Amino acid sequence: MRVYADHAATTAVHPQVIEAMLPYFRTHSGNPSSLHTAGQEAASVLADARARIAKCLNAARPEEIYFTSGGSEADNQAILSAAELGAKKDKKHIISTKFEHHAVLHTLNKLEKAGFEITLLDVPPNGVIRPEQVAEAIRPDTALVSVMFANNEIGTVQPIAEIGAVCRERGVLFHTDAVQAVGHLEVDVQAMNIDLLSLSAHKFHGPKGVGALYARRSIRLQSLIEGGAQERGKRAGTENIPGIVGMATALEWACAHREEHAAQLRVLRDKLISALSAIPHSVLNGDPDARLPGNVHFCFEGIEGESLLLLLDDAGVEASSGSACTSGSLDPSHVLLALGRPHEVAHGSLRLTLGYETTEEEVDHIIRTVPGIVAYLRSISPVWDALEKGERPYILA
Ligand SMILES: *Cc1c(COP(=O)(O)O)cnc(C)c1O
Repeated sequence: MRVYADHAATTAVHPQVIEAMLPYFRTHSGNPSSLHTAGQEAASVLADARARIAKCLNAARPEEIYFTSGGSEADNQAILSAAELGAKKDKKHIISTKFEHHAVLHTLNKLEKAGFEITLLDVPPNGVIRPEQVAEAIRPDTALVSVMFANNEIGTVQPIAEIGAVCRERGVLFHTDAVQAVGHLEVDVQAMNIDLLSLSAHKFHGPKGVGALYARRSIRLQSLIEGGAQERGKRAGTENIPGIVGMATALEWACAHREEHAAQLRVLRDKLISALSAIPHSVLNGDPDARLPGNVHFCFEGIEGESLLLLLDDAGVEASSGSACTSGSLDPSHVLLALGRPHEVAHGSLRLTLGYETTEEEVDHIIRTVPGIVAYLRSISPVWDALEKGERPYILA
């Protein structure tokens, strides 16, 4: 049996999405910038996809949706644009958090080198940022607050509407990296006072390499790519029509089934969490309730996450350590360190992320597999040996 339990990394394209994309590879291959009929057909398909995506997010206007190559590009563009707008008013302070995706953190590093001051909020032990933390950090020169909707490693869901309200009240732009949330949680950019939002199709059963940035109408974006008037001059390059149609189709499908899938996933998630909690000296990372319906994330003391992943793969379970760590790097996840897990514990992490296709049999297979592999790895670990002999204290109860 092979179980794919890495839906936070990427998802399979839904068959209906593939069907919807095919005509734009086979026959309808016009360029939306062309004046002839084929081109104008493509332009109208593009406008239609934009409107469908705007509707799913409850954006006021389709023009507030800008197509990008994915979540990373949308994060970069949102943050760099807000920084430029801030700098014009001499506001060069940005607030974000320690557990953002690297697409956000690395962009902020770049801005820091360019003279911006960055405040990264600490992550409370349950992995949920408190709106008061944001309120306390806002200064008269704050240009932007960027807080992710749901964390990609530990799956915790942030109080986005409350944070949005704080920012709106103080007149500060608010960006959220909603890549893990869109299609899985309710997202309403107007009700939640979101000014800028990033999303990516491949996280909700759309194709890879396509995403979008929502930017409220009054926000002037900075273009990262020059060379054409596409996306109203904010993102040059011939539009990825099949990808964009696929994204719109996937988003409509995901939103239509959102509650049904979430209910189904929560049952499987909680079964998995309660079974893995029985492993001694382990801990569930992140709040058990304020978390994505398909996310399970544990640390096991005395093991190396990478060995666990390799043995799990041999046993047919495709999982992740949670951090998209470059192989060879021994750095533990910045998310787990931000949560306050010590290095030794952060190294022994396991992320299992389920999708709508995940069956109970698959979850049972994971439950049968993980405890034995953890026990085996501990049996050959010198660290575990020292813990067992009482030569050093356990960190996890
Ligand atoms: C996957 C992911 C991204 C990057 O999206 P790409 O489309 O792969 O560039 C950004 N942020 C979060 C939270 C993600 O999970």
